[in-house]
Amino acid sequence: YTLIFVLFFTIIACKTEEKPTNTLEDKVSELLSKMSLDEKLGQLNLRGTSSRVKGQLSDSLKQAVRDGKIGAFLNVTNTEFVDELQRIAVEESPNNIPLIFARDVIHGYKTIFPIPLGIAATWDAEVAKNSSRVAAVEASSFGIRWTFAPMLDIARDSRWGRIAESPGEDPFLATKLSEAYVTGFQGDSLNDPTSMIACAKHFVGYGAAIGGRDYNTTVISEAQLHNSYLPPFKSAVDAGTQTFMTAFNEVNGIPASGDTKMLTTILREKYKFNGFVVSDWDSVKEMIAHGFATDEKHAAEIALKAGLNMEMNSATFEMYAKELLKEGNITEAQIDALVAEILRVKLRMGLFENPYRVDKSENLYAASHLQMAKEAAIKSSVLLKNKQNILPLGSASKVAIIGPMATKPREQLGTWSFDGDGNYTQTPVMTFQDKKVDFQFVEGLSYSRDKSTQDFSKAIAAAKKSDVILFIGGEEAILSGEAHSRSNINLPGAQEQLIKELAKTGKPIVLVIMAGRPITVSNIINDVDAILMTWHPGTMGGPAIYDMLYGNAEPSGRLPVTWPKVAGQLPLYYNHKSTGRPVIPEEFVQMDSIPIGAWQSSLGNTTHYLDVGYLPQYPFGYGLSYTTFAYSDLTLSSSKISEQNDITIKVTVKNTGTRTGNDIVQLYVQDVVGRITRPVKELKGFQHVTLAPNEAKEVAFTLSLDDLKYYDNEAVFGVEKGEFNIFVGQHSATGMNATIKYE
Ligand code: BGC
Repeated sequence: YTLIFVLFFTIIACKTEEKPTNTLEDKVSELLSKMSLDEKLGQLNLRGTSSRVKGQLSDSLKQAVRDGKIGAFLNVTNTEFVDELQRIAVEESPNNIPLIFARDVIHGYKTIFPIPLGIAATWDAEVAKNSSRVAAVEASSFGIRWTFAPMLDIARDSRWGRIAESPGEDPFLATKLSEAYVTGFQGDSLNDPTSMIACAKHFVGYGAAIGGRDYNTTVISEAQLHNSYLPPFKSAVDAGTQTFMTAFNEVNGIPASGDTKMLTTILREKYKFNGFVVSDWDSVKEMIAHGFATDEKHAAEIALKAGLNMEMNSATFEMYAKELLKEGNITEAQIDALVAEILRVKLRMGLFENPYRVDKSENLYAASHLQMAKEAAIKSSVLLKNKQNILPLGSASKVAIIGPMATKPREQLGTWSFDGDGNYTQTPVMTFQDKKVDFQFVEGLSYSRDKSTQDFSKAIAAAKKSDVILFIGGEEAILSGEAHSRSNINLPGAQEQLIKELAKTGKPIVLVIMAGRPITVSNIINDVDAILMTWHPGTMGGPAIYDMLYGNAEPSGRLPVTWPKVAGQLPLYYNHKSTGRPVIPEEFVQMDSIPIGAWQSSLGNTTHYLDVGYLPQYPFGYGLSYTTFAYSDLTLSSSKISEQNDITIKVTVKNTGTRTGNDIVQLYVQDVVGRITRPVKELKGFQHVTLAPNEAKEVAFTLSLDDLKYYDNEAVFGVEKGEFNIFVGQHSATGMNATIKYE
């Protein structure tokens, strides 16, 4: 036995002494030792093609790649260029380092899925994962192995155009989506030819832009940062995202692309992120305009020192890094560390072995992709109003389809869908034509902002001949997205006016909205019988809408963002703090009833806007079904929670209606007293449940003490003893409740 032991340990000892060969780290060191400074700086260079590649690849661009002066490209849409540039990089550049090709593949590449805010409305991580997998399969066929998604910016202000691209207002929901997106884009293995590395963006706080004005300043307390804005990013790291993108904005005075605390202390040291960070478009250079850098050289210095690896579009690294090195303001070791992080990702992607794209164009618009896109559109649609159950429609009704979004192949796709081919879009009108339903279509307004009333009479005439008016309106794609904030977020153009005219016919109106954000409907809420929010539903919006309207499918989305009555209420979000003053129901808020000359009104001690109150039109988590559900028997395994004792919370959900339906059971918690003040409610869990009529199911949640912990302004994570209110219900403003204690 002794002999065996000795032998065994000798073998182990020999093995551990053996230097590992060909590991990723060896390869990185080997490359770094061979690379010239120019090549190293080249790896930090992400080039846009609009300025450099037009019509054909310029000789100077090819030469730059041949010299190893470019590490990655964005927006090369011509596959011949992709192949040629990659060939030059791997065959002719000094160390044969492959390029990465990037693009904003946000909610689909060819097959377009609902906008991310719509995906968030599914409250279904599987949908996020499947849609991003489909996007990766399609985009990688064109050589795109890096997407600038998911955008994980928590957004509480629907004026902000990029709310369309966001996971909504809640960090818990966003965290689940974040993980799913990363997993979907990247696939099971990074070196699979269909894997597209993800980019968690925009780090951080972009969604907190003051007043919803894009690119604006943000002021975010340490507690808010850690409790609300960072969790989805942390979740992306944990899911293995390979890249991050910095934001344009500053947070508390520090522009994101030069923020050492965020990029180094939090991202690398605390979260252990081991990929690389790319700037946003020109965001390094923009630090000059922010008043944070004196000139481009200074901007480069700040960004490099903060831990920014790759510069998008602006070329301050390329132009000034050498000088900065010469002057000793940065060291070659710093550059090496930044380059190493990029090389590691390229190695993990298997690009050194398989640099070329694998053409899988047979997958574009594959039937399975279209089916998934249709399901996603159904699952993301939120039924906001359904007076007297007008929906689903009976098949016998004569329908007048009216409105500027009823057959707009491009507009239906939404923001960031420039690769989606409008010719493949199936619009509602096209679908109705296929189904041979008895309908008449009169657009009424030719685009969403159209103010002309000239076609109103035709629309009204069609309405009069119908049993039901289907008004398909909303926003064109360009009204949301980057740099497209709005101060009013109602139906633009003369849509409200047309709806009011149509209402005069006495025919019921079903309003289907396609838009990049919640649309305020308070002016027309009493004129319409049903409201179905479909966001920008993507390629398969038409068939999805048709199936929902006729009850072949049920809209099963829930709001991922609070829906205001008027834009003046914004920012508005459910997980706000308590003010100390009661929020009163709006029926008491009557600006007009205050006597002239009054010094005080009866509402003096409450928190409200005099004209509309504070309550939203529809709360976070809200959405109707074609059936009804009743909640009962809320039980807790214990009323006491501790490090050792999790609590199981159970509730019985029963389908009390007449058709099978899906509900999303939501768990919220309120920490009654904290070391800093706490939100009135926070989402801590949700579950989908599908029930046949009369069927009841018990739904169980587990709550641990960790779920109750939060960060304070010293970034300390913890919770103190006391009471916590638990709410379980269908949305954030309803539910059964109970109280637990941490003693
Ligand atoms: C956006 C990014 C995007 C980049 C590249 C920027 O303007 O803010 O989200 O990834 O452009 O298209």
